[in-house]
Amino acid sequence: MRNCLVIDLDRCSGCDSCVVACKYAHGLDLGVCWNRVQQMESGTFPDVEQYWLPRQCQQCEDAPCLNVCPTGATYREDTYGIVIVDEEACIGCQLCMTACPYGARRFDEDKNVVEKCDCCIDRLKKGEQPACVHNCCTGARFFGDLDDPDSDVAKAVAAAGEENCHRLPDNGGANPRTVYILHASTAAWIDALKDFSL
Ligand code: SF4
Repeated sequence: MRNCLVIDLDRCSGCDSCVVACKYAHGLDLGVCWNRVQQMESGTFPDVEQYWLPRQCQQCEDAPCLNVCPTGATYREDTYGIVIVDEEACIGCQLCMTACPYGARRFDEDKNVVEKCDCCIDRLKKGEQPACVHNCCTGARFFGDLDDPDSDVAKAVAAAGEENCHRLPDNGGANPRTVYILHASTAAWIDALKDFSL
């Protein structure tokens, strides 16, 4: 089982609906996000290209955040196989933030815990899709099991073709699961990590 997000960048309009839906679903304060949409540009005027790259926890196969956590607060839960944080066990040491190559974690100073996207596990338990998937205006986001050929994510990847499916650079062998669909006719994939933090 490899549950994750698949995001179709050919469809993403950069509207930030996913950002707002995430904030609402998790009751996040002003200025706090677990998901942000990054503008990606390449070329020199007038030959320029642009696409939008939503960024959140990549649900890494070999998650470095999980490997460095001294208390087991970050762990892969059994039912959905996703990496989550147990706030009760987190001591706020922030080692996971240093280990994460994708800037996908943030520190809550008030609670002294590190937090991140949890794929809306409370919604999953109720049989619902993550809030960002449910509320995406353009239908660009999918969630499910890449190993299940009947899942939305597997179908989206199969329809796009391997050459149009991308992952963030595998810095440090994290092996990120999140798949980004982008056809060259929309824009060339930029295979480099631009500075990013939540
Ligand atoms: Fe951990 Fe960062 Fe990978 Fe998410 S993106 S699993 S927080 S290393």
